[in-house]
Formats: sequence, C-alpha cells, structure tokens
Amino acid sequence: MNKIFGLTAMGIFAVSTMATAQEPEQPWVVDRFDDIKVIRYEVPGFENLSAKEKEYVYYLSEAAKCGRDILFDQNFKYGIAVRRTLETIYTSTTEREGQEFEAFEKYLKKVWFANGIHHHYSNDKFTPEFSEEWFRAQLGKYINDTNREIDDELLCKILFDKELYASRLNQKAGVDVITASANNYYEGVNQEEVEAFYAAMAAADEGNPEPISYGLNSKLVKNDKGEVVERVWHIGGMYSPAIEKIVYWLEKAQKVANPVQRKYIKELIKYYRTGDLKYFDSYNILWVKDTESHVDFVNGFIESYGDPLGRKASWESVVNFRDVEACKRTEIISKYAQWFEDNAPINPAYRKEEVKGVSAKVITVAMLGGDCFPATAIGINLPNADWIRKEHGSKSVTIDNITYAYDKAAQGNGFAEEFVLRAEDRERMAKYGKLSDDLHTDLHECLGHGSGQLAPGTKGDELRTYSSTLEEARADLFALYYLGDEKLIEIGLIPTLDVAWAQYSKYIMNGMQTQLSRIELGKDVEESHMRNRKLIAEWCYEKGKAENVIEIVEKDGKHYVVVNDFVRLRELFGELLCEVQRIKSEGDYEAGKALVEDYAVKVEPTFHAEVIARNKALNIEPYGGFVNPEYTPVYDKKGRIIDVKISYPANYVQQHLDYGKNYSFLPSLN
Ligand code: ZN
Repeated sequence: MNKIFGLTAMGIFAVSTMATAQEPEQPWVVDRFDDIKVIRYEVPGFENLSAKEKEYVYYLSEAAKCGRDILFDQNFKYGIAVRRTLETIYTSTTEREGQEFEAFEKYLKKVWFANGIHHHYSNDKFTPEFSEEWFRAQLGKYINDTNREIDDELLCKILFDKELYASRLNQKAGVDVITASANNYYEGVNQEEVEAFYAAMAAADEGNPEPISYGLNSKLVKNDKGEVVERVWHIGGMYSPAIEKIVYWLEKAQKVANPVQRKYIKELIKYYRTGDLKYFDSYNILWVKDTESHVDFVNGFIESYGDPLGRKASWESVVNFRDVEACKRTEIISKYAQWFEDNAPINPAYRKEEVKGVSAKVITVAMLGGDCFPATAIGINLPNADWIRKEHGSKSVTIDNITYAYDKAAQGNGFAEEFVLRAEDRERMAKYGKLSDDLHTDLHECLGHGSGQLAPGTKGDELRTYSSTLEEARADLFALYYLGDEKLIEIGLIPTLDVAWAQYSKYIMNGMQTQLSRIELGKDVEESHMRNRKLIAEWCYEKGKAENVIEIVEKDGKHYVVVNDFVRLRELFGELLCEVQRIKSEGDYEAGKALVEDYAVKVEPTFHAEVIARNKALNIEPYGGFVNPEYTPVYDKKGRIIDVKISYPANYVQQHLDYGKNYSFLPSLN
C-alpha cells in the first residue's frame, strides 16, 4: 500500500559527502541478533534549524515516543505484561553469563524490535532458545506479588506453547482470520460478527462522498449484554493514559508551530480527545496541503497492515524536516524536464510536446515512534483515505538519512568484495554509489514515467500483463541513459561521469546476477521491477556481445559480471529505450511479450545456485532497524527553551530499557 520498504541487504554502496572527516567514525551497526541488524541514523541539518524549529522537533519527538505502549498492546493483548516481566528479570538477574542468559537476552531484543512476541515481518511467534526450566527459576527469584504483571502459568504458556497465539496475523484461506490472529484489535468476536458490524456501519454511511474510515481507531469487543461494540482509542477511552501524554506534547508543539501547522495540530488534538474520525479527516485535509513548512510529522493511528481485515490502524509517528539539498536536486531535474524530453533517443513522434517534471520531496527523519520503530519504511505516502487523496492530494516523500544509514551499515559486509571483480569498480561505487542511486531514482520518478506519448489510436492497455515490467524498464532506461549525459555535469547534478559508470556497473551486475539471490532455486523471475532489471541487463549483454561491452568473467570457479565499455553501454540503453517506447506508444503486444519472455523471466540454474550460495555465505541480516537520536533542551534562566542539542546513543538495549522506564504509560492490561 503506502509504504516503501528498502531491500536493505541489497544496499552495498555508500557516498562520502556526509562523513565528518575530523571525528573518528562511530560504527553504524550498533547491534546484531538473529536475522536483525540495528543501525543508528544521523540527522544532518538539525543544527541548522532555527531555535523555534528545534523546539518544535523536540516536542513532536516526545509525542512520538509516548505511544510505544499502544503498539505493544495492539500487537498482542499481553504484550506490555510480557515485556515488563522480561525487563524485570533482565535487569535483576545475577546470572548474566552462559547460554541460557544469552538466549534470553536475544529473545528480549527481538521482543523490543518487533514491539511484541511475534516477528515484525513474518508475524510468527518467536520460539525461545532458553529453557522453560531456567525461565521458571528466574520467575521464582525475581517476580513476586509486588511486580507480577501476568500470571506465571499463563506467561509460560504464552512463551513456550507453540500452538498458542502462534501468529499475529493469520490470513490463510479457510480460517477465521479474526480468531486465528493473535493481534489485539478484536476480542470475543469472530470474523462473521466483525464483517456484519462494519457492513451495517457502511450501509448507514452509503452515498457519503466523504466516507468515514470506520473502525480505524477502536478495538471491537462484546459488552456485558453480548452486543458487539467498539472501544474507541481516545482520551477518556481505551489507551487514554498514553494518548493524554501525546496530546500534552502536541499542545506544547502547537505553541511554537507556524499558523498552518497550528491549525491541523488543533484538529489532531480534537480527534485524540473525542475519538471522532471526522476530525482525523479534517486534520488530514489540512495536513496534506501543507507543503511549505520546513518541519513536518506523522502522528496517529495510520497503517492497517496488522489487521487481517485491514481496518484497524496501528499507532505510529515520524518527525522530519525537508532535506533542502536533495530537494534542490529534484528541482533542477524538473526545471530541465523539457530538455530531457526533447533530446530523448526515441522516435520524435513519441516525445511529449509539453512535459512537466515532478519534483520529489526528500526528507530527513528526526524521530521514529510506534510502528515506525525500530523497523521503518524508507518512504511515506499519506494520507490513506482514498477520497482525501483524490480530492485533496497526498504527500509522498523519501527518507534520505535512513537510506544513507542503511548504505553505511552495509559497507564492509563483504558484498562488494564478493561480487564486484575489479577494485576500480568497487572504488567508484563506494565513492559515488549513493549519489548515483539517488539520481537514478530521481530521474526514474521525476521524468521517466512521465515521458513519452502514445500514438493516435493506442489506448494504453494493449500490453496487458507485460505492461508494468515494460513501464518500469522504460523509466529505468530513461534514467540510465541520462545519468551518463554530459548535460548532468553542465547543470551541476554530478561532478563527473564516474557517477554514471558506478551505477552502470551496479545495475548490470544486479540485473544479471545478484538480485537472483532473492529468488528460490528453480523459480522464475516474477516481480516486475526485478524482471525489468533483468530484461535491460540481459538485452544489453546480448546486443553488446560482439564488442564485449558486458563480460561474464570466471575466476577461481566464481562468475563475475563486468562492464567493459560504459559509453557503448549507454548507447545500448538508448536503443532499447527507443524500442520500449515504440512498443508502448504503438501498443505492440507481441513485441513486448517477446522482450519480457526472452530476457526477463528464465534463470539459468547453475548460475542461480552459485549466486544463492555466495550470498548466503556472507551472512547478511535481511532485516534492519534503528536506534533513535536523543534531544536535550537547553533552558534559559526563565525556564524557556533556547536551544536543543542532539546526540546519538549507540546502545540498543539501553534505549529500550530507557523507553520502558520513561515512556510507558499504560497498564499491563487495557
Ligand atoms: Zn517506477
């Protein structure tokens, strides 16, 4: 839906522009356990915000941390109780060595990461690697009537009984998705009752051009009389103690906000006070129109991935501000949109006469909370209500400092050494990789998709199942072709064409080889972005074979994909772009089908097996998440905030223990 997730294991390149030369570099990866790596992210540009903006960020960041318990409770009814008990044992136990303790610590780290006892991505319940015997001994020693949050027997069952609460989100065909899922959005009701309840609500709202997102902010239960009712999340309702704190900080933020921000914060507070979803809509409408404010935020019950019926939203928050430098980049691209179109290597009849570039917004995250923490998306596209998107628009942003941190964390993971044969290519990638990735994305999104036009008589649906692969190929080819154009140097986007060559080496290697590690042996390439990359790389390999443009080198039993002639490769990108544009413009289904089927789908099994084995040997954790920075206000004699200092803690365990102590406002059962 509306989140863009990065393929963290694939990010192998970094750029040197942000590294501070004076200070010794702190490690980017601060913790590793199970299938997770925890990374710290930096907030470049925070120091340059005005004192008022810093104060605003500080208040919003406090609000972002106050909803953590809500998510633990949403994910699992006993989530807070389990976490608190584990933390008590963790901080009390004197047995801090040996296998049992290490397994216990790992389990707790996973619980913090997932905001519960189920894996954040697979939704499966974690299996403890410590023994029940050891755990019961700890319970006996450290949990007593003064600190017991949950019955010992129930707790042991929750942790050790595999069948009980096995999945947070069970959407298998044939099951009652409500009773089979361990999330806490419903209790004592089954799927049929839930569907009937909301069908009645929707029927009453029939024909409303501004439909309310019913069910978004409530738990559905049965009351004493056996009637199905909502327990709404608002002040005075469910989760009140946490929401009161969120509102407390939002009110502080309101005081230092600009008039536009003040208006929508007011609506958001009304919504938190009443639980009335109409205020959430009015908040969103005002918020989506604010494209001017430097600092921005998300705070509320937003995404519904955790509800098998996609209705209930988990609580989350992101505080951010605009990345001025990166936005300048996309503004330049937009400014020259017509030049790019007029010079595209395609049939002039298929060029757009008047083209408008889109300037993408790039942001820097200052704080992550709730369902955006520790794991987070690298892009945001909100609000979710379709009618608001249609009538009032949406905000779409990419988060630069998070992708940067992913890149940094991936440096030295051995990926480049394993797959990039030549040192000169590795160096070019390390130096310009991030810039070339960013520009490739910008050109693809801001210009590529919007370029070109259909021939008279073509409707646009002729390419059917091949259309998305071909469309992605068209946008990628547009980006690749122009990345290697001297024009980019002239307009100040790149210092040298080495930026393009870095991308070319990486793109071809990924398309022909490394991306295959994500596909099970024996399977075809299905996903359209992956197909597109394979199509481009394989086509150029074949067409440039006589001139050895791309070469597969075998060394010590391993295969490497190497680009020998960047200039000629760029011409091939242009030729393929011309053909793909023709296919789209003319709706030439047969030609489109042939391109995709010949180059994008089938994988040679021996080559495939080799990639999988080499990738596996690198032991790269597939999931990543973050530790947050910390903000400390500086007060004057009268107690007014005059500045806010930022620091970067690098201890994952300590951060979660602190959050558990200082930002935990809900009872163990809600
Ligand atoms: Zn695209």
